[in-house]
Amino acid sequence: MRLCLVIVLIVLVACTKDPSVQDLRVSNEHNLTQPHIQFLGVGGWLLHWKGEGLMLAPSFSNPGLFGLRGVPSPLVLANERKIDKAMREVRGFGDVQMMLVGHGHYDHLLDVPWIVEHYMPGATIYGSETVKHILHGFDGLNEVQVVDVPPGKMARLRKPGESGPLMREGEWITSEGGHIRVMPIESEHAGHVAGLNLIPGGYRQDLTKPELSLWRWKPGQSLAWVIDLMDDKGEPVYRIHYQDSAATPPFGFVPDFADKKAIDVEILCASSWIQVPHYPQRVLERHRPRMVLIGHWENFFANDPHEPRLLVGQDVRAFIQVVQTTVGRHVPVILPAPLSEVAFPRPEKKPPL
Ligand SMILES: [Zn+2]
Repeated sequence: MRLCLVIVLIVLVACTKDPSVQDLRVSNEHNLTQPHIQFLGVGGWLLHWKGEGLMLAPSFSNPGLFGLRGVPSPLVLANERKIDKAMREVRGFGDVQMMLVGHGHYDHLLDVPWIVEHYMPGATIYGSETVKHILHGFDGLNEVQVVDVPPGKMARLRKPGESGPLMREGEWITSEGGHIRVMPIESEHAGHVAGLNLIPGGYRQDLTKPELSLWRWKPGQSLAWVIDLMDDKGEPVYRIHYQDSAATPPFGFVPDFADKKAIDVEILCASSWIQVPHYPQRVLERHRPRMVLIGHWENFFANDPHEPRLLVGQDVRAFIQVVQTTVGRHVPVILPAPLSEVAFPRPEKKPPL
């Protein structure tokens, strides 16, 4: 069964396409002033705010079968040379204190141990219980703090029979300097083929060694994140929403916060969007962001970040059209090249009291 699935995947993705085939405009800016965000490729992003940094788990190794571009490998191993090469183009990672992980699949977690251990040993990794169990298998992380998010601390959907708002608030986690705070949100993982998640499940016990098989990198509870960048008085200046997988609405939605602060930047996941009904329309209708960034849009099997290609069957152009139609022409929708930067919009003016 698994062999068949692998063969199907190989046939599906072996022919990679240049983004120009879909007439896509790929943003590719560098050396911007703050505030900006750097796209690291796949689900990875990096932002800085008032001397503190936050990274959303990147994926640089991106193994391919026999190194072939576009072909997934059943064995996955962090490629230290490739990570180090990419990190040379990652600006200002030294201030990163928070590394947020959305789920445990290898394209979101495989490189995290090496990156944190070698580039940001003071950072704390936040993820689900499964993510913590997987990371336990990495010796080098003994000195690194890994914090799991128990279900009671994440924002979550109202359960059947419960009264109150659609999404219940979770707990904020605030950075050491106090200028960044994040909240995990109960989310969901899209299916890969025909609505099926080919690598489901999670772990309830610590692993004792790093997993080599692609099938053993289980997702666990998927988390979306809301990220607030705050001023010196503790008021949010920017509110960012991040999903590293398409999710059935209302999974991943931001709760109704008392401060009524709107979402400034919405970070969406293009991969498998077509597998999820009403994604991304519903999340955009609820959040009404001022800017939309598209991540996880490129073929990551043995990829070259400087020559991003599309996955076959990944209609990124249609995805962008759906996004733009939903948010309106006045909202910028940006498809960034891996390792490029995107400037944040100007802070929203507060309404007069
Ligand atoms: Zn995944």
